[in-house]
Amino acid sequence: MDYQPRLDDIQQLLMGVLDAPSQLQALPPYAEVDDALMRQVLEEAGKFVTSEIAPLQGVGDETGARFEAGRVTMPPGFRAAYQAFWQGGWPALACAPEDGGQGLPAVLEAVLYEMLSAANHGWTMAPGLLHGAYECIRHHGSDALKARYLEKIATGEWLATMCLTEPQAGSDLGLVRTKAVPQTDGSYLVSGSKIFISGGEHDLTDNIVHLVLARLPDAAPGPKGLSLFLAPKILPDGRRNGVFCERIEEKMGLHGSPTCVMRFEDATGWLVGEPHRGLNAMFVMMNAARLHVGLQGIGLLEAAWQKASAYAQERRQMRAPGATQTSLIEDHPAIQRILTTQRAWIDGGRLLAYRTAIELDMAKHHADAARRESAQRWCSLVTPVLKAAWTAQGFHGASACLQVFGGHGYVREWGIEQIVRDARVTMIYEGTNEIQAIDLLLRKVLPDGGGALGALFDQLATEDPLPLEVQQRFDALRRLAVRLAQAATYRADLAYWVADDFLQALALALLGWAGARITSSQPHWLAPARALQTWVLPAFTMHLQIIEQQLADTETAAPAPAAA
Ligand SMILES: Cc1cc2nc3c(=O)[nH]c(=O)nc-3n(C[C@H](O)[C@H](O)[C@H](O)COP(=O)(O)OP(=O)(O)OC[C@H]3O[C@@H](n4cnc5c(N)ncnc54)[C@H](O)[C@@H]3O)c2cc1C
Repeated sequence: MDYQPRLDDIQQLLMGVLDAPSQLQALPPYAEVDDALMRQVLEEAGKFVTSEIAPLQGVGDETGARFEAGRVTMPPGFRAAYQAFWQGGWPALACAPEDGGQGLPAVLEAVLYEMLSAANHGWTMAPGLLHGAYECIRHHGSDALKARYLEKIATGEWLATMCLTEPQAGSDLGLVRTKAVPQTDGSYLVSGSKIFISGGEHDLTDNIVHLVLARLPDAAPGPKGLSLFLAPKILPDGRRNGVFCERIEEKMGLHGSPTCVMRFEDATGWLVGEPHRGLNAMFVMMNAARLHVGLQGIGLLEAAWQKASAYAQERRQMRAPGATQTSLIEDHPAIQRILTTQRAWIDGGRLLAYRTAIELDMAKHHADAARRESAQRWCSLVTPVLKAAWTAQGFHGASACLQVFGGHGYVREWGIEQIVRDARVTMIYEGTNEIQAIDLLLRKVLPDGGGALGALFDQLATEDPLPLEVQQRFDALRRLAVRLAQAATYRADLAYWVADDFLQALALALLGWAGARITSSQPHWLAPARALQTWVLPAFTMHLQIIEQQLADTETAAPAPAAA
């Protein structure tokens, strides 16, 4: 059974709970984007995903991308599907009309990528970085670079990569060694080795545009010495650039996506943004890229849930409590618990992710500076939570869905083991989940003593009256942020030890809020709401207790305040 987009569920959340059309219509670029248009785009996207992309899920895994003599051949059907994708205008959905785009809101693109990832994560990696590359060149590229590359990337005629990682430089990009030497004509010669580059080489498009982090000769050591360069596979005069794929990795999953070792050998490139401000040039795409990885987790969990719930409605084993004859396995409490729990994570995650995509547009286009600021705060705080917590749930939840199949899940036939293998990497790339937790607690919550986090909670309280237990979770996190900020003044490492618990606790607090929002407008959302209360949210207390225990130990050992 291939993944089927369940548009009713998605539209209920987007239109029914979030009221997306009227919110977006208040923004000048989307004045024409009404409910009917959003539904129409989503329905067409659903049809495209179902007919063109989902059927390639199995072949992408079994045949995989192949490497031979520097060339990469994508699995059968991938190239034709990509041609249909770009000719159908899908990459251009959320790009500006003046760049050849359709000028639609980010949330429609977010839903498209959730569906694509659910249908075929491996294929979706190919266009996955396009929009980020587009934003990066749009905001930081010179006029000459924009003239040459922006429209090709906006429309998806050419694909793009992000070349950051090197053997010695993973999470710590400050260790990047690739060099860029200025030339008299204003170009640069880029040389170095990059690893793990998704789509570094393939046969989907005639050209591939690489965005490469490298160091200028006068660069300071560390992350502040990095600059960003655009180096295409094919140069504007038609010559092949000095960019070579040396091999592709054998890996646990995602076989349809070539993960390439790339060698840049005096490759011609052009600076994107200012010298030594390469990471800054990439920040423009960071929130959107991390949101998309969170949506991969949600999409993969949905795909696993669909398979598991269909199987549970067919397979009979033993008698469920109170039954007089052999039961469907969906009637066994243990299986019901797995399925309803994942449903709660999927729907709650969607609400948060779609809202984040709307906030991305609010931050860009709202007329009121205060509203732009609150949108920016939302994106900054909620994005690392979505990336880390929903990719972890994507993997662990898909594994729980595999359990529903018993031994049949462990063999290839049903396709669920592929989802578990494919989902694992989402916890690693685009900033590992440990790095997300540190980003959240150390960079975004503690520096202002929990002020921004408190403002986010206040904002939610003004939108709708909060149920008592949601308010209590928010209050507990507020108090904890203040204590952790104080403790950080005399024990610098404490926050690093508990960052993951803080992120998980915030994820659960937001999931509780999302569940309450869904229940208030969709009263039939009963089983997931019950699962949330019974099986999921009690973990909030556990994470809180872990942090409180650490704090208590630290506070006991704290130095006495100096006498006045
Ligand atoms: C399939 C796949 C596709 C990829 N695609 C791309 C791509 O297109 N472009 C690209 O540039 N890269 C890509 N990557 C690379 C990916 O972004 C890195 O693997 C990731 O950033 C982690 O780096 P690393 O593997 O070197 O692990 P390391 O950085 O060595 O980390 C190892 C472990 O230590 C932890 N750790 C490291 N530093 C800290 C810290 N300060 N605090 C706490 N824990 C820490 C990490 O969380 C991790 O658990 C891809 C990777 C894979 C597997």
